[in-house]
Amino acid sequence: MITRFAPSPTGLLHLGGLRTALFNYALSRSSGDSQQPNRFLLRIEDTDSKRRVPGAAEAMQATLKTMGLKWDEGPGADPRGLGPFVQSQRSELYKEHADSILEKGAAYRCFCTQEQLLQSRSSTAKNAGYDRRCRHLSQSQISSNLARNVPYSIRLKVAEGTTEFTDLIHGKLEFNNRTLDDSILFKSDGLPTYHLANVVDDAKMGVTHVMRGEEWIPSTPKHVLIYKAFGWDLPQFIHLPLLVNSDGAKLSKRHHDVNVDSLVQKGYLPEAILNFVGMLGFSPPSAASKDIWFLSDFVKEFSIDALSKSSAIVSYDHLDRLNKLHISHRLSHNSPERAEILKQTRHHVLEYASSVAPSMVSQTAIEELQNDADSSHLLQILQSVQGRATFVKDFYYLSRPFFFLADYSSEAAIQFKASLPPTLDLNYNSQQILAILSQINPNNEKWVPELKSSLKHLAKRDQRVGGYAGLMKSLRYVLTGEKVGDDLLEFVALIRIPEAVRRLEAYLG
Ligand code: GLU
Repeated sequence: MITRFAPSPTGLLHLGGLRTALFNYALSRSSGDSQQPNRFLLRIEDTDSKRRVPGAAEAMQATLKTMGLKWDEGPGADPRGLGPFVQSQRSELYKEHADSILEKGAAYRCFCTQEQLLQSRSSTAKNAGYDRRCRHLSQSQISSNLARNVPYSIRLKVAEGTTEFTDLIHGKLEFNNRTLDDSILFKSDGLPTYHLANVVDDAKMGVTHVMRGEEWIPSTPKHVLIYKAFGWDLPQFIHLPLLVNSDGAKLSKRHHDVNVDSLVQKGYLPEAILNFVGMLGFSPPSAASKDIWFLSDFVKEFSIDALSKSSAIVSYDHLDRLNKLHISHRLSHNSPERAEILKQTRHHVLEYASSVAPSMVSQTAIEELQNDADSSHLLQILQSVQGRATFVKDFYYLSRPFFFLADYSSEAAIQFKASLPPTLDLNYNSQQILAILSQINPNNEKWVPELKSSLKHLAKRDQRVGGYAGLMKSLRYVLTGEKVGDDLLEFVALIRIPEAVRRLEAYLG
């Protein structure tokens, strides 16, 4: 299969574009055919010079690379010698084809000026488009215009009748040709329009499957007429359902959150973004049992049958959940990406340590971090808090309680304290916990469950501590000053008993 992603460089790559690119990439690899190698093409459709944004094409290519969507043919890769893959560099080819479609009688020259076109539009029924006045020019009128060098565009001559094509998602679609405008194929400025350039390129590049957004359905019958005028076989058409916001409104480029780059900058991992867009309008049976999808999974499992007909709702909560899952995944595999997370967090902790009062720093923890050559202890810390990390940068503050003493004067600590039952005696509880901790032998592998059962036992025996919950709240307050945290005994295990003892003693003064 030969598929292509053919963006117009009118801005940054947005989520819808990324999804189209991903599905085309996956489709191109979903079936092997030894006669024809599977290929994914990237083509820059920049024939509309008014909408072209300088640098956008390059930025889109960089984003696709970040996402791992490598094109087999396109800018910088031309194994079959079919390039260039930037339409503004292919004008000659389009001019030849515009002339040839004229010769075939499937198109005509339109000499109308802007003014005449405006007039034409107001004289025809609303939305009916061009009134086709130049379609009926005599040969002598045409010759005289040409002799006087009157600029002209070339328009598709849409015949009476109907045009139909089969879409692999939507089935057979039929259009009354009366609803199709005699669209311009080639402009008087010497450039083709999208319709002509798109069809010529898809045909010349051997594209077998045209998969794009649903908004292109109305253009497709025109494309079908162009294919037919040239006598070319139609490719398969697949029009992907729209992406919509939770309120059902079309996701718009104007909304900054739809830009892939801005999401990356916010801290969403490329693989999480790819996973996210890949699940929009695609629901293979295995989606129910597999919550995390990588590019290789999409390639393995992509099938047009699993594409949905209805619009796909973009939920940023889902993106957050996926980012979390992909962060956990990165942490659980020894890889350069994991090393990078550790390096960044370590850097942040050390920098923070040099910016706060020395009395707030757990010196032993910082020393250990400095000596933790393979960051294995830091990794354990991050794994213990990862359930609360939506972004990598969340590890910066989530790891602080492991390296810094509780700041009881902070707003969070004051609120936490205010939320504790007034009967809870923090001093008394700290003393009881200290007594238990001093009995624990950290060399015993099972000291954590042992600590837990001793605390439970204490809670049962001594009403004053406010039950096991009261004990744990007291301990959390004293050790961290933070109401929300992960498993507290795991926290104690990670900071280790001497540090817990030091913090309890410091609290008691
Ligand atoms: N250049 C069109 C766009 O910007 C692509 C349409 C197509 O894939 O045919 O979306």
